[in-house]
Amino acid sequence: TALIEAEITGRNRHEPVVSPVTWPPLQDRYDVMVVGAGFAGAVMAERLASDAGKRVLVVDRRSHIAGNAYDHYDAAGILVHRYGPHIFHTNSDDVFDYLSRFTDWRPYEHRVLADIDGTLVPMPINRTTLNTLYGLDLSSDAEVEAFLASRAEPIDPIRTSADVVISKVGRKLYETFFQGYTRKQWGMDPSELDKSVTARVPTRTCTDDRYFGDRHQAMPAQGFTRMFEAMLSHPNIDLLLGVDYADVRVAYPHDHLVFTGPIDEYFGYRYGRLPYRSLRFEHRTLNEERHQPVAVVNYPDEAVPYTRITEYKHLTGQIAPQTSVTYEYPSATGDPYYPIPRDENQALYKRYEALALAEPHVSFVGRLATYRYYNMDQVVGQALATYRRLKPMLRGAEIT
Ligand code: FAD
Ligand code: UDP
Repeated sequence: TALIEAEITGRNRHEPVVSPVTWPPLQDRYDVMVVGAGFAGAVMAERLASDAGKRVLVVDRRSHIAGNAYDHYDAAGILVHRYGPHIFHTNSDDVFDYLSRFTDWRPYEHRVLADIDGTLVPMPINRTTLNTLYGLDLSSDAEVEAFLASRAEPIDPIRTSADVVISKVGRKLYETFFQGYTRKQWGMDPSELDKSVTARVPTRTCTDDRYFGDRHQAMPAQGFTRMFEAMLSHPNIDLLLGVDYADVRVAYPHDHLVFTGPIDEYFGYRYGRLPYRSLRFEHRTLNEERHQPVAVVNYPDEAVPYTRITEYKHLTGQIAPQTSVTYEYPSATGDPYYPIPRDENQALYKRYEALALAEPHVSFVGRLATYRYYNMDQVVGQALATYRRLKPMLRGAEIT
């Protein structure tokens, strides 16, 4: 019904929950201040408030909750993701069960096609991809394995994101599907990136064309922002949106801090800036019912300036006469979206981590604060584990 209401009113139901002009009155102290209302901050706040009975103040510099997972109804009444497509998937029963306390789910298995000179083929590379691209008739796993083995170049040791792919599928397929896309997405060649980046994408010998193989694959039935509202609407939690930590740090005293922003920012960039990759999102509403056959089409061609187009209706099952899509243009400047997995960056992060370990009254949690290329479920798992470690140290109203 939320979808239908929004279609009728065209209203954004998820604009600021609390604005700066309605700051809660100064308390003597909060037990915990949480910086960031994304997955890391929301899980920590929810656990501290409802499991440990702590009084928690959550602040976020953005005007909304849910961090990068924020979704809202656009002017056409379509539920869209402001910061690019977020698809939930996990192998962790714990993470799935925990989030299920705050949302129902819509089963959804993600499928992605890659545009290769105008032909749409499944990505990750699978049997269908090869048959379509090369006009082949490979009909068994063994045949596909033999085909790939004849192209693969042995590389030992496998260190970079180029090695991972070339050693599995050979140079031609690597260039077609990975090199251009990665150069655009990261602003550097796959040979300069840690192997973990392209290792996220498997190669399949079967015809399974799902992007993820996880046990749980689903979208929050009413969207991510609704799920976050359910997590954060607790009498022990106050929420301040549109304010920066630096502006409220002193005004709201607290015994413990949970910081989910960039770790280098917290320490005043003492050792220099950690590199993050950014994106510019171009959101468009089109006067057609459906734009593309699946939610995401990737454009690995380096000559195309964007990396992918997402059509949200596929994620939500929403029915409407128009459709909304997002183009992603990678960028060196802008909000920090992606930690860049490279040895030298990890070394710099380790120096900041050493500073963090010397701050017992601060928990650093999440993708930006631990400089890890984590999916949503990994951030939830990390936050739950951080809370479990913190809990024995919580005494009465004091956190020591
Ligand atoms: P964030 O969501 O970034 O939240 C941090 C919050 O802290 C932000 O809201 C920020 O405004 C706030 N903040 C930071 N510093 C301050 C400060 N000084 N004062 C006040 N507030 C501050 N994961 C998946 O599992 N599936 C996907 O399909 C998927 N797709 C993605 C697509 C894109 C384009 C991107 C960028 C990420 C994607 N992710 C996906 C990853 C997912 O977004 C993250 O794992 C998750 O959102 C991280 O949560 P977080 O709380 O660590 O960080
Ligand atoms: N990648 C690629 N071509 C594709 C899809 C992915 O080269 O069609 C590479 C690229 O470097 C990308 C990485 O694999 O950043 C991981 O892809 P994933 O879809 O997991 O990235 P995310 O959803 O986090 O942007």
